[in-house]
Amino acid sequence: MKCPICRQPAHPDFKPFCSKRCADLDLGKWMNDSYAIPGEPADVAEDNPPSEEDQ
Ligand SMILES: [Zn+2]
Repeated sequence: MKCPICRQPAHPDFKPFCSKRCADLDLGKWMNDSYAIPGEPADVAEDNPPSEEDQ
């Protein structure tokens, strides 16, 4: 089993992570995810290329 954070072999004490640091990192990631409340789309389709509308 490998650490999902850094891909190092997992440590038995912290599995599936390799260290407390990575376990904390993953926890922080989850916290951030839960803070990303739906209703506030992060990346809306803002890829409108600058088009010449004067044709
Ligand atoms: Zn790790």
